[in-house]
Amino acid sequence: MPDIMSNPIRILADHLVNQIAAGEVVERPAAVIKELIENSLDAGCGQIEIDIEQGGVKRLRVRDDGCGIPREQLELALSRHATSKVAELADLEAVATLGFRGEALPSIASVSRLTLTSRAEEDAENAWEVSVGADGRLISPRPAAHPRGTSVDVRDLFFNTPARRKFLRTEKTEFDHIEQVVRRVALARPEIGIQLRHNGKGVLSLGASGGDEARVLERLDRLLGKGFGEQSLAVDESAVDLRLYGWVMRPAFSRSQPDQQFFYVNGRMVRDKLVTHAVRQAFSDVLHHARHPAYVLFLQTPSRLVDVNVHPAKHEVRFRESRQVHDFIYRALHRRLSQGTLGSEEEPADASPRVEHSETPGEPLFEPTSGGASAVTTPRPRTGARSGAFAPNDRVRDSRQNYQSDLAFQRPPPNERILASATEPRGEVGAEPEPESEAAPRQSMPPLGFALGQLNGVYLLAQAVDGLILVDIHAAHERIGYERLKRAWKTDDVVRQPLLVPVSVQVAPREAELFEAHAESIARLGLVVDRIDAGSLVVREVPALLRQADMERMLRDLIADLSEHGRSTRLEEAIDAVLATLACHTSVRANRRLTLDEMNGLLREMERVERIDQCNHGRPTWVKLTHEELDRLFLRGR
Ligand code: ADP
Ligand code: MG
Repeated sequence: MPDIMSNPIRILADHLVNQIAAGEVVERPAAVIKELIENSLDAGCGQIEIDIEQGGVKRLRVRDDGCGIPREQLELALSRHATSKVAELADLEAVATLGFRGEALPSIASVSRLTLTSRAEEDAENAWEVSVGADGRLISPRPAAHPRGTSVDVRDLFFNTPARRKFLRTEKTEFDHIEQVVRRVALARPEIGIQLRHNGKGVLSLGASGGDEARVLERLDRLLGKGFGEQSLAVDESAVDLRLYGWVMRPAFSRSQPDQQFFYVNGRMVRDKLVTHAVRQAFSDVLHHARHPAYVLFLQTPSRLVDVNVHPAKHEVRFRESRQVHDFIYRALHRRLSQGTLGSEEEPADASPRVEHSETPGEPLFEPTSGGASAVTTPRPRTGARSGAFAPNDRVRDSRQNYQSDLAFQRPPPNERILASATEPRGEVGAEPEPESEAAPRQSMPPLGFALGQLNGVYLLAQAVDGLILVDIHAAHERIGYERLKRAWKTDDVVRQPLLVPVSVQVAPREAELFEAHAESIARLGLVVDRIDAGSLVVREVPALLRQADMERMLRDLIADLSEHGRSTRLEEAIDAVLATLACHTSVRANRRLTLDEMNGLLREMERVERIDQCNHGRPTWVKLTHEELDRLFLRGR
C-alpha cells in the first residue's frame, strides 16, 4: 500500500481526471449512447442514426443532422468542462438542455478511441474531424466528408481501463441496455426519426411523427407492444406550475415486472423514488401489490423548481417542493384511475348510443335494485375533454380506432359513459332519429344491459344495446363490496380500539418529533400515539379494523414514509387491504347460482360503482363483445 502520508499533493493530469469522471458517467456502452443521443437532441436534430458493433464494446456510432460544431470549436468540445449550454450560474438554474456538465465527450474520449466529425451550418463548405489518441492527445482538425450535423464514432470502449472492461456483460446484455436507452428517448421524442442497427442489422427504425397523432400512437405500440395505445388511459392534469400528461396502462394490463415505467421530468427520463412512490400509491387501490403498473408520463414544471444537477449521469432530479410534486402526481393519477375506462370522449365511433332493433328485450323486466350504498352519480370532469396545449388525449381520440380493430374484445366503455347514458333524458339520446326510431323505448336499456344467464357459475352473460357483456361475477362483487366498505369506513366515524397493553416503541428523537408533528391527523384515522419522552412513543388506541396488525412495525413504516415523503398513506392502505380481504371473502364465490334478479341487481350496481373496470387485484371485471365483433367472428358482413 502506498504511504499516503508521505506523498505530496499533486494536481492530476487532465487525462486521468477525465478517466476518473468516466467512471461515473460512462459505466457501460449504454451510458455512452445516452450521452451521445442527448447531445444530438440538444443540437436540435431531426434524425438520429445509431450503429452498434458487438454490444457497443467494439464500436458505437451516433450520427445526427443537428446544428453541428464549427471547426474552431471541435477541439474544445472534447475538453473537460467545455460546454456551449451553460455560461453562468443563472443558466444552471434554468437548464433547458439535456447536457450541461461538459463532461461526456472528454470522459468518453478518455476511455476509447474517439473521432468527432461535424459540419456546422456556417461551415457549408467543409466538414471537419478531430480524434483523440490513446494518450489523450488531440489530433488537430482535418477535412472530412459529412453532411450537416455531427457523427461521434467511439471504438474499443474501455480498451485502456481493463477493470471496467471486466465488468461488462455479454454482447447481448450490453446491447439490450443500449436498446432500452434508445427506447426511452424514442418514447419521449416522437418527432425525431431514429434508426438503430446492431452488427449491421436493423433493430429499430422509427419514422419521425411529423406531429401526426396517429403516428405517435403507432410509435407507442411499436415500443411498448401492440395495443398499448388502445389499452391505456390518457392523462393530462395541470396545477399551478405542474403539468402531468401521458398514458397509464389500465390496471387490468399490469405487468409482472416494472419494465414499462417511463417517467420524464421536463423531457429528461428519471428514476426517482418520490415519483415511483406516488405512482404506486395511486395504483394501490386497483392493483395487486405484486403487480407493476405500466406508464409513460411526462411532468412539466418550471426549471427553477427542479434541480437536475444532482447526479453525474443525470438519472435523478431533485424537486424544490417534493411533497407538492408527490401529492400532485398521486392525486392526478388516482383521479384518473377512479374514472375507470374514461374513453367516451376518445371513441367517437360509438359515442352516440346505437339503437338496436332486433332481439332486444322489451321494456326492462327488472327494476334496478336499490340495494347498496353507491351514490356515485355525479359525473366527473372528463379529462379526455380538457382543452390544453399539447394533449395526448387528442391523439388518442383521433386515432384510437386504428388500434382497436385488431382486438377481438373491446374494453369496457367508460364508467362515465355508463353514467351519462343511464341518466340521459330519453328524448335526447340519438337526437337525430334513426330509421328504427320505433325502438326508442329501448334506449332506456342500461349500459350493461340485462342478464341472459350464467356460464359455469363463473360468468354472467348480459345483452346490452351494442353487444354481449360478459361479467366475472366474483371479481365484480369483490370490487363492489370493497368500494362499499371503503365508503362506509370513510363516512362513519372511525372505530378505535384502546389497547389493554399499550405498545411502546423506541425511536430516534428526530423520528419521535416528526411523528408528533403528524400525530393529530394520524389520530383521526384511529391510531392514537403518545410521545412519553425524547425517543419513546406509546401506541394507546388503534383502528378497530387493524387490531390484529403488528403495530410496532406499522408505526416504524409510517415514520419512514413521513421522513422520506413528508406524508404517509400507510394506515389508509393497511385499512384498505383489510377491507379488500373482507370484500373478497364476503363476495360471491364461483359456482353459486344466481337468480336473474340477482344478476340484474349486480349489473345495476356495477354501473354505479367507481373503479368497476377491475377488481381489487387488477383483473378486469367485465368485457364487451360488440355486434361488429360478433359479426366478424362469424364472417358476417353488415
Ligand atoms: P454537454 O452536453 O454537457 O455540454 P458534452 O461533453 O456532452 O457536454 O459536449 C460538449 C459540447 O460539444 C456541447 O456543449 C456541444 O456544444 C458540443 N456537442 C457535442 N455533441 C454535439 C452534437 N451532436 N451536435 C452539436 N454539438 C455537439
Ligand atoms: Mg452532453
